[in-house]
Amino acid sequence: MIAELSSTVRIISPSHHVGLDDYAAVGALALPVQDLRAHAAIIVPRFEDRTIWMVNSTAQGGGVAEMLPGVVALLRELGLAVEWVVAGSDDPDFFRLTKRIHNLVHGEGDPALTRDDRTLFETVSRRNSDALAARVKVTDVLVIHDPQTVALGAMLKESIGLPTIWRCHIGLDRRTPETSAAWKFLRPWATACDRAVFSAPEYIPDYLSGKATIIHPAVDPLSHKNRDLSIHKLVGILCNSGLIGEQAPPRSPPFEHRARRLQPDGRWAAATEPEDLGLLFRPFVTQVSRWDRLKGWRPLLRGFVTLKERYTHDGKLEPIGLRTIETSRLLLAGPDPEAIEDDPEGREVLDELRDDYLALPSALQREIAILALPMDSAKQNALMVNALQRCSTVVVQNSLREGFGLTVTEAMWKAIPVLGSSAAGIRQQIHDGLEGRLVRDPEDPDEIARALREMLADDHARDRWARAAQRRAHHDFLIFTQLRRWLEVLGEIG
Ligand code: UDP
Repeated sequence: MIAELSSTVRIISPSHHVGLDDYAAVGALALPVQDLRAHAAIIVPRFEDRTIWMVNSTAQGGGVAEMLPGVVALLRELGLAVEWVVAGSDDPDFFRLTKRIHNLVHGEGDPALTRDDRTLFETVSRRNSDALAARVKVTDVLVIHDPQTVALGAMLKESIGLPTIWRCHIGLDRRTPETSAAWKFLRPWATACDRAVFSAPEYIPDYLSGKATIIHPAVDPLSHKNRDLSIHKLVGILCNSGLIGEQAPPRSPPFEHRARRLQPDGRWAAATEPEDLGLLFRPFVTQVSRWDRLKGWRPLLRGFVTLKERYTHDGKLEPIGLRTIETSRLLLAGPDPEAIEDDPEGREVLDELRDDYLALPSALQREIAILALPMDSAKQNALMVNALQRCSTVVVQNSLREGFGLTVTEAMWKAIPVLGSSAAGIRQQIHDGLEGRLVRDPEDPDEIARALREMLADDHARDRWARAAQRRAHHDFLIFTQLRRWLEVLGEIG
């Protein structure tokens, strides 16, 4: 359900199919739920008749939109009045600018932000803040997510005076001229907020050091993206989404929108064309992400090609390890291009990847699948990602930069071995050799190939990494820890 406050500001009712009792019924989750309830009993009474407004810029796509429905629904169940507002813009220049700011915070792009950029940022934010102003009260709490909404937050803080928290999900662990340009641009609005929340201490700009705190992002273990799938359910999802051929008798009808696969002639067609992917039998190396240059797609593709060229005749490997490498396939999956029409950079990145793929010899093209996942239904998209991650022998996140990297957490929780890059957010989650493997340089195909060789050839090490990763995710990166931290932060300001 959606309520429109203006053409660009909407209140969204997240659909969430499980409640705290459902989590508590799962053995390993009972204690964290109990702990969360105990915290809520202390904090929640202080927020009677007050609304917590969570504001971000998109309802779908990316880590923030992934987390908010669960956070909003469970905070509500704990007794808080929480509303989720999406404040966007119909001006593509606004998102082009915010994408530039996003990249600059990660140290990439042209640092020259102009007076016109500031005017555009302020105009869109002013319009959105005016649309929301009639709904918020001085006793409410405003939580604004990421740079896209920071000026809106500062404006509401100024006009209404309510406590305002800026939750910034991105960051880099060093300062460069690019990051400095972004932080300078954001400074007037960021400093107007009462508190700031970051995913890692290294990300906090100096001017926020006194009022910033850390909350790790987290996954929801019972969401469609992460919940356990029985073998029948998993095969059913693959079948319904067109990722494997039809099986008889069908248990449920096919999804209306199905996955598509890039073909050797450059068309998008059924995922089972020109032949079955082999998801149920082959060892898959999988990356699922947005089509963003910073996700390291092209070097990953080159790394896999190097693996196939260099290590399929490696005499030092045991036969089983060699066979795993020989039969392995690479799966690169992201949003269907139809869903990213308003994301020019995403289309460019996908086009570049497509060109790389089309230039490969056909024997290698057969070993690599580039998949477009429909975004029309959030639930079906989540189930597809869940099933694909579970079908993988290794999940990769080869990001050049990463604020956190929920895809890593998702694989850790599922006990799927992860190959990450040493981008700051991924290093928060994985210590190299302990909870998975990390490549030092995600732009070096040789290093990626060596790491994949090592991972694919060693079943025992994969099991070890996977178990340690699941333990870490359970302890630090489940939604309960995140919610408890939110209650603590609210307690401090309320
Ligand atoms: N994702 C998805 N479908 C896709 C691509 C990505 O559901 O086609 C999800 C992915 O599973 C993860 C989120 O989008 O939950 C991406 O979050 P992450 O923190 O990895 O990166 P971000 O996109 O926020 O940079």
